[in-house]
Amino acid sequence: MKPNIFHIIGGGIAGLASAIAVTNAGHQAILLEKAAKFEAFGAGLQLGPNAVRALQQLGAWDAVSPITASPPEILIRNGVNGKILKRIMLGKSFEQRFGMPYRVAHRADLVQALLKVAQSKPNISIATNSEVLDHTIYKNVIAADGIWSKTRQSLFPGTAAIIMPEFFYRTLVPSLVSDCITLWLYPGGHVVHYPIGNPAKLNLIAITQGQTPQIHFAKACDALKHILAQAAEWTTWPAAYVPPLKNWNDGNVTLIGDAAHGTLPYLAQGAAMALEDAAGLAQALISEEKIDKAFHSLSQSRTERTTAVHKASLRTGKIYHLPTALAGPRNMVIQMLPSQLNLKQSEWIWLDKKNAGRG
Ligand SMILES: Cc1cc2nc3c(=O)[nH]c(=O)nc-3n(C[C@H](O)[C@H](O)[C@H](O)COP(=O)(O)OP(=O)(O)OC[C@H]3O[C@@H](n4cnc5c(N)ncnc54)[C@H](O)[C@@H]3O)c2cc1C
Repeated sequence: MKPNIFHIIGGGIAGLASAIAVTNAGHQAILLEKAAKFEAFGAGLQLGPNAVRALQQLGAWDAVSPITASPPEILIRNGVNGKILKRIMLGKSFEQRFGMPYRVAHRADLVQALLKVAQSKPNISIATNSEVLDHTIYKNVIAADGIWSKTRQSLFPGTAAIIMPEFFYRTLVPSLVSDCITLWLYPGGHVVHYPIGNPAKLNLIAITQGQTPQIHFAKACDALKHILAQAAEWTTWPAAYVPPLKNWNDGNVTLIGDAAHGTLPYLAQGAAMALEDAAGLAQALISEEKIDKAFHSLSQSRTERTTAVHKASLRTGKIYHLPTALAGPRNMVIQMLPSQLNLKQSEWIWLDKKNAGRG
């Protein structure tokens, strides 16, 4: 394919990674971000081995790796009585099995690291304060404008994000109760925390059915209540997802990242999917002769996987949020399953075999 110019709408993880992918494939990228600057919004992100692999494929891992932390294990705990239900070790043998480590990072640090990579490339220009109101004024468009994407709704009417009854509450607290990724299961909701940033703070996420965490988790064990009590203020928003699309492109316009497949975060895979999309975009632009064909081939190669992740996230949320009557049997199953089986069940996500061997 001859070198082309691509306009990228949105400078989140998908947009920045796409700009890098476009130039890796020998083209020029103009990234348009509506915000006045790359704000330090958001909090923690888990980067499973597939996310790390995609960052390596994009040539961005060396820049990202130093801003990540390496939690030693994932702990699953019963939020009612504090019992540890499962430990999943994330050390050397995990890394050997999946070929890449499991890391966590502050979203703002990840965005800054990707921005640094993008800024180091002469073929990427970046404009902030640049909201795109009509994508049709550009020829070759990669829309990375997030879960509420206007481009998606204009290309594919009737695809507004679906709002769920659950609410996310997110904050950072100074006290580091643990260096693990800890998941607390509780009827109708759950809590996740792990340390991120430098100096490290505890990234705390609570999912409820709308009530504040203090009210929803009022009958939690003392250890969980103590952690939640550290939160001075929360950022809150409703859970939402994009109804799975069979196709993301229309001619020379494609969606990417959350704009294409915004999912519920219960498998911690939204950003990972965006990074995989971008790695796939570079491949498609290299393999195909025409832009519309490359965009179509990207969408064809990704929709099955992103839809499977979406369905599995939805299912995981239902399991995490089971009511009291069903929580006991669920906890017993979690305790009984050997952690090797948990790893096996996550293999399709973390060791995407189609993608793992790619350079
Ligand atoms: C509670 C929670 C926890 C999560 N945890 C994880 C996790 O552990 N691991 C993981 O992999 N994922 C996780 N995710 C998902 C992850 O945050 C998202 O999938 C990812 O950030 C999506 O990136 P994006 O670039 O596609 O979209 P966004 O981050 O939404 O970026 C879109 C960008 O486009 C810009 N924009 C929008 N419209 C326009 C326009 N018209 N013109 C110009 N610019 C525009 C916006 O300002 C924004 O900068 C989590 C999500 C939530 C809600």
